[in-house]
Amino acid sequence: MRVETVWLGRGGQGIVTATYIVANAAVIDGFYALANPEFGAERRGAPVKAFLTIDKSPIEDQEPVKTPDVVVIFDDKLIDTMRFAIDAVKPGGHVIVNTAKSPEEMKKIIGRNDVYLVLLDAVGIALKHVGLPVPNGPLAGAFSKVMGFPRLESIKTAFETQLGKAVEENFAATKEAYETALVVPPERVEQAAKPKGVISTTSAFLTGPYEIVGWPEVSKAGAVFPGSSLFYATGGWRLEKPVIDHSKCIMCRKCWMYCPDDAVVEAWKEVQGPRGRVFRMKVIDFDYQYCKGCAVCADVCPTGAIKMVREI
Ligand code: SF4
Ligand code: SF4
Repeated sequence: MRVETVWLGRGGQGIVTATYIVANAAVIDGFYALANPEFGAERRGAPVKAFLTIDKSPIEDQEPVKTPDVVVIFDDKLIDTMRFAIDAVKPGGHVIVNTAKSPEEMKKIIGRNDVYLVLLDAVGIALKHVGLPVPNGPLAGAFSKVMGFPRLESIKTAFETQLGKAVEENFAATKEAYETALVVPPERVEQAAKPKGVISTTSAFLTGPYEIVGWPEVSKAGAVFPGSSLFYATGGWRLEKPVIDHSKCIMCRKCWMYCPDDAVVEAWKEVQGPRGRVFRMKVIDFDYQYCKGCAVCADVCPTGAIKMVREI
């Protein structure tokens, strides 16, 4: 029996810690486990992916998971960026999501009727028990509920070795998630059905087309295809977004010059003059698909026209 899982979220949400906790707890329960994190940008808020394989037999290969049995999503706002992983879940598998949205809404967003959806407000539960928006304990609890392992007691022991503090608080959050996570069964699972896609190591965080490639197709040094940054929607990393007050902007374009992602753009805006005449004015705007929320534009703006507004 082998269970292959992928855990997806943002830097700072405890994704890697969660896989280590579940791996340690599984080992306590007599399983073999292999947890491999894979980082994109080393930045808080940027997408992070971690693989966790659990098996009754020794795990010989160290390959990343390509078609998981379970995907755990730490932030429902990342679903579009990480749709590749949802498409790759085996029919009859599980998609565990930290979300406060309704099951109907999530069913539409996930777009698959052949997998189990496991929904819980993991951040709300963590805030209640731990006082921090770190959903890893509750998501470990939901995983234990639907898989039947590792046991809750083993997760608690893993908290002791992995965290070394706030063990009771984290365990209370894990237990509440175990008891309350909502499981929505699939509408139907075709017997010989295959996943809609695979997780490719060359396109882990792209939103565009992806496919697995063999070694003959990879260019020297493993470079990915030209123009791939177009598909690299860095907007998914954002925790705060820039918002502009046009009445303070003097169009000096310093924000445009300093933006590292070419996400400051010019747009036309209609404004009404004092005598009712409508003018078209050029204004500064942002391309939120690529704006990663670094706040450089707000820092360099000489008039304070740009403010950063929290999104998460
Ligand atoms: S926040 Fe950063 S990425 Fe976004 S527009 Fe400003 S400078 Fe560019
Ligand atoms: S730096 Fe500030 S004042 Fe200059 S164009 Fe950008 S928003 Fe306007």
